[in-house]
Amino acid sequence: MSKVQTQKQSSREQFIDCAKTGKILVNQCKKCDNLILETVYFCDKCFNNSFKQVIFNGKGKVVTYTIQSVVPEGFEDVASYAWVVFKMDDCGLNVSGFLPGISSPADLPLGTPIKVIDFHDKHGLVLKKDENIL
Ligand SMILES: [Zn+2]
Repeated sequence: MSKVQTQKQSSREQFIDCAKTGKILVNQCKKCDNLILETVYFCDKCFNNSFKQVIFNGKGKVVTYTIQSVVPEGFEDVASYAWVVFKMDDCGLNVSGFLPGISSPADLPLGTPIKVIDFHDKHGLVLKKDENIL
């Protein structure tokens, strides 16, 4: 007796699919509800090893960032950009991503609303200023 199992998407693929629709996939520890962004095998708080996946809105506020004006190899497709750490509105996790078009701190005050719009194979999460928020 054999059972055909459908190939499950890897968690990285699921994360990327979510990012492309503006969401962030987070692992939540089933035991202590700790939220963990990366795929991990053990909860860093209680060492439990079972998680459920929770999908949050990929929106937040800029916490800190680094502007890269000297473009490293592999980033020739963008002129200047910032590596941004933002705090997610829905769960308070800090997430980092890539925000093109930032060349000076005047472009990106701390607290600027930001949202995930895509996932780039090289750069990771692609962010955009959330201009709709007044
Ligand atoms: Zn835990």
